[in-house]
Amino acid sequence: MTVKRQLSMVLDLNKCIGCHTCSAACKLMWTNRNGREFMYWNNVESQPGKGYPRDYENMGGGFDADGALRLGRQPSQEDYGIPWEYNYEDALMTGTDPWLRPNVKPTWGANWDEDEGEGDYPNSYYFYLPRLCNHCANPACLAACTRNAIYKRQEDGIVLVDQERCRGYRYCVNACPYKKIYFNEEISKSEKCIFCYPRIEKGLPTACAQQCVGRIRWIGYRDDEDGPIHKLVEKYKVALPLHAEWGTEPNVFYVPPLSPPKFGENGEQLDESRIPLSYLESLFGPRTGEVLDTLQEARQAKADGEGSELMDILIGYKHAEMFKLS
Ligand code: SF4
Ligand code: SF4
Repeated sequence: MTVKRQLSMVLDLNKCIGCHTCSAACKLMWTNRNGREFMYWNNVESQPGKGYPRDYENMGGGFDADGALRLGRQPSQEDYGIPWEYNYEDALMTGTDPWLRPNVKPTWGANWDEDEGEGDYPNSYYFYLPRLCNHCANPACLAACTRNAIYKRQEDGIVLVDQERCRGYRYCVNACPYKKIYFNEEISKSEKCIFCYPRIEKGLPTACAQQCVGRIRWIGYRDDEDGPIHKLVEKYKVALPLHAEWGTEPNVFYVPPLSPPKFGENGEQLDESRIPLSYLESLFGPRTGEVLDTLQEARQAKADGEGSELMDILIGYKHAEMFKLS
């Protein structure tokens, strides 16, 4: 779809510390009430892992190689995780029950497999992958909606659901391969990340980016050649979309994570990355190795005292300069 301008986000996975401040900021602002309790418009997954909703990568959706829309399946409530309450009153206030017990027996939730990762000691590994709606250039959610209730704003490409038009058919939920559009049973309508557009319209970044402890997120317009998005995505080409093969043309990009070397049987360092390149390529595509080489070279240049515009951007010395919203 053509829009006049496209807002985008880049996230540097080398800097994410998995603190979930972004998810908390989003939840407090948008999804802690009114049927949205199970929703995490922004969540942070430990990778490799099953993600949120559970196994979303195997639920289908997106477009096939010929551009035909694929309707995948809808996650169940168990796949998202059923929100639970603890017996705070009995355990903490009356002392009649010494334990904090949830009111349901949870079987899954966002962060259920946090920090598990893969591999055997001393070569075990994981990294954090924050996820949100990609505000795609070719949104499968929009293509699937028979009510024309989903639209992309011309001025910034943000993908929104017109709540007046939505009838809750949920084709959008089937079609989004990232499972980043949710059905609210209380109001029988679909809802999703709105890229904090009321903040964007005031010149402020999204809540997840503003609160990001690791300063891993940049926000700006794709066509702004002086802005960080253009430099990271187009100039230095170090930011890649997640699962580009799903055909939705995401506008959220990731700088893939470098990793320490593996250890051999006798504790010696091997010339092999702890995180298998093949795994990263399965997420970020065939250019991942090239990107990791570019990052390594830029790091070395900085360490050697040479200038590196790329490293200066990635370090993000001034948080305010990571957002260019005009
Ligand atoms: S990530 Fe999913 S919900 Fe968001 S615009 Fe793309 S297809 Fe739609
Ligand atoms: S706030 Fe930033 S550093 Fe913390 S989990 Fe979210 S993206 Fe990662």
